[in-house]
Amino acid sequence: MTAFEAVIGLEVHVELLTQTKLFCSCSTDFGAAPNTQVCPICLGLPGGNTPRLNKKAVAYAIKTALALNCQVAQEITFDRKNYFYADLPNGYQITQHFHPMGKKGFLPVNVAEKTKNIGIHQVHLEEDAGKMFHVGDILSSPFSRVDFNRASVPLVEIVTEPDLRTAEEARLFLQKLRNTLLYIGISDCKMEEGSLRCDANISLRPLGSKELGVKTELKNMNSFRAVYRGIEYEIERQTGILQEGGTVIPETRHWDEEIGATKSMREKLSESYRYFPDPVLLPLKTDTKWLEEILYSIPELPDSRYKRFTEDYGLPPYDAEVLTSSRDLADYYEQALQTYPEHKNLSNWIMSELMGLLNANNMEITACKVEPPELGDLLKLIDQGTISGKIAKTVFEEMFTTGEKPEKIIREKGLTQISDEETLLKIVDTVVTAHPGSVEDYHNGKNKALGFLVGQVMKETKGQANPRLVNKLLQKKLSN
Ligand code: ADP
Ligand code: ZN
Ligand code: MG
Repeated sequence: MTAFEAVIGLEVHVELLTQTKLFCSCSTDFGAAPNTQVCPICLGLPGGNTPRLNKKAVAYAIKTALALNCQVAQEITFDRKNYFYADLPNGYQITQHFHPMGKKGFLPVNVAEKTKNIGIHQVHLEEDAGKMFHVGDILSSPFSRVDFNRASVPLVEIVTEPDLRTAEEARLFLQKLRNTLLYIGISDCKMEEGSLRCDANISLRPLGSKELGVKTELKNMNSFRAVYRGIEYEIERQTGILQEGGTVIPETRHWDEEIGATKSMREKLSESYRYFPDPVLLPLKTDTKWLEEILYSIPELPDSRYKRFTEDYGLPPYDAEVLTSSRDLADYYEQALQTYPEHKNLSNWIMSELMGLLNANNMEITACKVEPPELGDLLKLIDQGTISGKIAKTVFEEMFTTGEKPEKIIREKGLTQISDEETLLKIVDTVVTAHPGSVEDYHNGKNKALGFLVGQVMKETKGQANPRLVNKLLQKKLSN
């Protein structure tokens, strides 16, 4: 049987975080009542309205192209992609077909402990279409409704080279891309709200072959998991066809999350769109000074940060990966380091306690009430012996819900660690008297018994005893 290799290329649409649309001042806010954020320009109504290009959208598209290592166009031009559909008021979409904003870039992705550069074919700016609503299935729905609030919202489209080989690679690429776009702040990249949408082109070819096979295009995947599952499914489906000697039909397929399968939508029309340079939107020269400004506005990107976290802070790869997985989280870590420069200890706390609470409350780090220096202060209090690590967790939970400072919580709740020998000795005496069996075990060489007795003292003091001191006192007591 012939062995096949999958070839995958992604087309990713990202809604830009601009306040207004691409050519008018209508709002881009998500979730408003249908057709309330529209005007003659984005509705394509006749009249003397002149489109005005959104400078921020252009800057964001250039920023994206630069962050993805592309060559940036010297001149900004727009083209009309002509087709008819009810969600497209002008009868054409404004896009950059002939001269995309960025070309020939790449994004490094870590795949199975190796770095693979995934080629970026192009990055271009375009406008979104409106959104259609149907009752149930599109073909049996008695009517269609359309909301033009989304019409002409600025999008950046990122087209990869067919460099991906597995569903896992595609997922990793998409995560890296999303992370990078969040770092540069051009989009909120919410897959569930559709501000990041991914189409996957998939084909198979005999292993070793250099030619590209017939591809299908997969749409409607609304999560990373859906992208992974959809591609897996499509690879399996195509493998089945080819192994039976059949041929793959070039078509657009729809991922159905509920049944976990792809369904044929329409046969692919071989890129038969008609494109024309837009006669109204004249070419714009990019100003070198402005380009430089955009370049300087790009923050340190995840790869460089990862490298610094492992090399300068000595963090294990896993920690560095988690902490740099979001710019806000990495910022939080580095801000807390200013007060508490114990790299690994701080990383442990953020990854287990802080992220644990964030996950449990379904919260983003930006909504966290604990300021980074306050977390640093808390960890210092542990190291100084003021509170035990265990109590610190309770204090931290309180900080997390109330936003109070650690010192205040410790003072008000009387949580200071008991390091007074006399006080502890009394409790040690009581515990030893109450558990003669364990004392005997200890004398018979069962070291576990000591742990149990320490635990009892901790319990008596509600976790406030200094565990190291308790250990010492108990050992001394038992050796008498
Ligand atoms: P189309 O003409 O169908 O729009 P393009 O050449 O513009 O196709 O490519 C669109 C996307 O599909 C790109 O991401 C590209 O890498 C990918 N692609 C192109 N050909 C193939 C193929 N045979 N198999 C898999 N992906 C492909
Ligand atoms: Zn408008
Ligand atoms: Mg194309």
